[in-house]
Amino acid sequence: MKLTLQVCIFFLTSFNAFSQIVSYVFSAPNAVHHEAEISVEADKLPAGPALIRMSRSSPGRYAKHEFGKNVYNLKAYDAKGNPLKVEKTDADIYKINHLSGKVKVTYTLYGNYQDGTYVGIDATGFHLNMPATFMWFKGMDKVPMTLQFRLNDTSWKIATQLPPAKDAMTFTAPDLQYFMDSPTKVGSLKFKQWTITNPDKKQYTFRIALDANANTELLGQFAVKVERMVKEAKAVFGEVPEYDYGTYTFLATINPYVKGDGMEHRNSTMITLPTVFDGSDNLLGVFSHEFFHCWNVERIRPADLEPFNFEKSNVSEGLWVAEGFTQYYGDLILMRAGFENEAEFLENISQLVNTKVNMPGAQLYNPIENSQRAAFVDAGVSIDKNNYPNMYASYYPYGGAIALALDLDLRNNFKGLSLDNFMQKLWITFGKTARSYKVSDLQTALSQITNSTYAETFFKKYVYGHQGFDYSQLFEKAGYALNKISPGKAWAGGVSFTQNKPQLTSNTIMNTPLYMAGVDVDDIITSVDGQTINTATDFNTVISNHSAGEKVSISYKHRGNQVYTTLVLQENPMLVLTPLKEELNESRKSFKNSWVSSRVNE
Ligand SMILES: [Zn+2]
Repeated sequence: MKLTLQVCIFFLTSFNAFSQIVSYVFSAPNAVHHEAEISVEADKLPAGPALIRMSRSSPGRYAKHEFGKNVYNLKAYDAKGNPLKVEKTDADIYKINHLSGKVKVTYTLYGNYQDGTYVGIDATGFHLNMPATFMWFKGMDKVPMTLQFRLNDTSWKIATQLPPAKDAMTFTAPDLQYFMDSPTKVGSLKFKQWTITNPDKKQYTFRIALDANANTELLGQFAVKVERMVKEAKAVFGEVPEYDYGTYTFLATINPYVKGDGMEHRNSTMITLPTVFDGSDNLLGVFSHEFFHCWNVERIRPADLEPFNFEKSNVSEGLWVAEGFTQYYGDLILMRAGFENEAEFLENISQLVNTKVNMPGAQLYNPIENSQRAAFVDAGVSIDKNNYPNMYASYYPYGGAIALALDLDLRNNFKGLSLDNFMQKLWITFGKTARSYKVSDLQTALSQITNSTYAETFFKKYVYGHQGFDYSQLFEKAGYALNKISPGKAWAGGVSFTQNKPQLTSNTIMNTPLYMAGVDVDDIITSVDGQTINTATDFNTVISNHSAGEKVSISYKHRGNQVYTTLVLQENPMLVLTPLKEELNESRKSFKNSWVSSRVNE
């Protein structure tokens, strides 16, 4: 998804100057049943059979998604419109023997899942994530492309980061990577736009393309909030990136029937929120996270995601930074911009701390190892059971926990330095130069703003290792205290139950009372401390009548066998951050202000 100088020049040149082109036409006469008819035509195909395929993965997603499952009725034709023989060489790859060098393929696509990853075709409009929608010819990935829409309703509008061609229905892309990174919305969209000026005086247009039941006034009020958030994010880096064509687009679908998601792209983001649009601050979380990605991951980019491979899962060692640091800043920016109050901010920060302190995946494995598990956990599909609660910690909060610790540690140890400075260093070194990074490069960058000993120690302990942070000490200067969530009270282990009976639906977590007692997923708890347990509420009530450290009898059914044993109750290890009771001194006030107060000075 990196845009080189050559590609930029290419953009500015008429496609007529180039003979080879791939042309797509998208129509959906049966949109009411979520079907689209798509044609793709390639000319001057290399000699020999042509291979056309559907993608198996999508930028911003790291697992396989098998988009080929929704493709059917595929046909191929030569330059004169004569049918060509089609042979399926794999589940989602088709071989077409041709002589003319020009091949047109048509297929039907089913799509009924509006989010950032999949495709939604409906009588109300089209919601397209490109890898889930468009097949592509192997070997033609450097060829420029055009995409033409046939609209079901002439009043519909189109929103995409792709530039328009000669008419309003046709768009262009310099190559396959750019095309696939450019989600597109078609329908009754409402637009609101504004501009932002960089320190070098260059102006960029920001626009919201909204698919929601909303009036212009409400959209206008919401856009003011998004603009405020954009400025706060810009203040972290000092500037916004040079967006291609000078525009960044929030493609926002806010309707109860969509699936909750947010997907970052180079000059746009696809946001889907399953709720009624009310313009409230609560909607901003995904906007803030996804927008931060236009620096962190889209331009400050891990080397192992470059270029993106559409034929397999994409494994990266850097997701703890790409997603985790973005997770941390997503909230911090909302707090700085005044859209999160202190209680909400502390709750979010507490979740990061708890991930690092209390999840076995973060206690036992380093963030690189957890990042590499994305191929299995990022909506990766499997039906067998796994042991994630005991061996995996999401790189979102785990990476966020590292960002938090690094931010506070820099502020504690280096006067005037913070994670903002580190992000600026990454932006200048990797983002602006379009140079992708390896984890070792991040250590070098950290050493350049601190010193080599500090960076080496930090990476050895917390990035290549999995040591714990002293969060209590880190929060001390900010005037916050870290305490157990329910001190002294009994706790059996964080598990979930079915609604109707006390049957475990989740794995027990190592070293917790239930785990130590041998209770496992699917087991049914029948009695505790001599009292019959019929529901999850019964179980929680009996436990709450005891104190941490007490031993109680427990009986449970495992695959039909009744087991009798003892539960040694503990204190819930979950932590919660609260403001210190005493009034903050000047030093703490200034520490906290420089951390969570607005950085915008325009
Ligand atoms: Zn993200």
